Amino acid sequence: MADVYNWQLGRAMSYPHEEAHPNLQFAFVFNINRCIACQTCTMACKSTWTFARGQEYMWWNNVESKPYGGYPHNWDSKLLEMLEAENPEGQRWRTKGKSATKPYGEFKGKTIFEAAENHSAADKSMRALGYIPTDQEWRSPNIHEETATGKFREKDQWGLSAELPEHKVWFFYLQRLCNHCTYPACLAACPRNAIYKRSEDGIVLIDQERCRGYRKCVEACPYKKPMYNSATRISEKCIACYPRIEGKDPVLSADSSPMETRCMSACVGKIRLQGLVKKTADGQWAKDPDNPINFLVREREIALPLYPQFGTEPNGYYIPPRWVPRGYLKQMFGPGVEHAIEQYSNPDRELLAVLQLFRTTQKVIFKFKIDKGEKVAEIENTLPSGKKVVQEIFNDTVTGYDQQGREIVRITVEEPTFERPKNHVNSI
Ligand code: SF4
Ligand code: SF4
Repeated sequence: MADVYNWQLGRAMSYPHEEAHPNLQFAFVFNINRCIACQTCTMACKSTWTFARGQEYMWWNNVESKPYGGYPHNWDSKLLEMLEAENPEGQRWRTKGKSATKPYGEFKGKTIFEAAENHSAADKSMRALGYIPTDQEWRSPNIHEETATGKFREKDQWGLSAELPEHKVWFFYLQRLCNHCTYPACLAACPRNAIYKRSEDGIVLIDQERCRGYRKCVEACPYKKPMYNSATRISEKCIACYPRIEGKDPVLSADSSPMETRCMSACVGKIRLQGLVKKTADGQWAKDPDNPINFLVREREIALPLYPQFGTEPNGYYIPPRWVPRGYLKQMFGPGVEHAIEQYSNPDRELLAVLQLFRTTQKVIFKFKIDKGEKVAEIENTLPSGKKVVQEIFNDTVTGYDQQGREIVRITVEEPTFERPKNHVNSI
């Protein structure tokens, strides 16, 4: 049992495995506000990795509609209920005294690891509080798609829903894959030591030779991302398209520079940005404000971890949806929700420029630079807090660089428009 520091919780926690940290960590940011649930990401993953016999119910990447949807069904509400039972005093946050090492404050409840230590269940070998979903729960991966919740008004049912900051009737899409956690529950729970975290990029993999299909990883992962293959009788999970991260995809990486995964690069809604962030020897994020993922997660705190209270320190981050009641968002993304939404609703010129980088290149961006441009607009804006602001828009240029410092993308805030010459009108 190691005592490790979890910066998302703002405190040390017990972790039932040896502590080890990579030099770089696979991480990603999803902008929920832009997802259209087209499932292109889901199919890009499916057609690449899980099209064989025994993988029929495997969706390493899925997009579910919240609050009712989930794959497997009710994966989060089931575990939250179990955690509540182990946390008689509630899953609370102390938000006073925030600092660089505790950006969201301090979590006062129990993580899945701490809850398992005192668990009353007969299985004393349990490393993390969890459960194995039933076969029924793995069916219908897109159940409750676009099923809204909230109160409708009788005569004009949509009238109450049309205005920000919060809609009275709401749902949103949640994009999910393995979070390649800093403290993976799947890894800690495996009695065969078949799961490992790579030191070069923090990707978590299951050794298919060592796995015997005990499904301890399925039970322990709070996000339910390891999946059991009934044909081979071993477990499988997202491999973060590691050949692409290693720069071995022949399509674009003749120069061996890391490429984003299939689900990231296929995203139609331009909601996804994936990268590799620098870690220090003790597992903290190195100060690296010019890395776009680092900038969005640590500098601006606009992108938040999914269920940080579980304690695995997931490396997937989400810009929360502006129209969803804050109470729901806070139990899902922690206490940083108001700050993230306020910033997203009124981005300054630096943030606006970085937000342009989503889906502009398949290569991993390690660094960005902004060149200032002219002011092109002024927009009157009412923030979720009710404050009225005048937002200035500048046509800045943002440039992205690969691991070797080579330019791989250059884009302006204002998209250039081209007028089709008269002799080519309707020529398509
Ligand atoms: S491809 Fe992008 S927009 Fe489409 S469902 Fe996936 S995350 Fe959402
Ligand atoms: S999301 Fe689950 S499967 Fe992925 S690393 Fe974390 S605990 Fe393991």
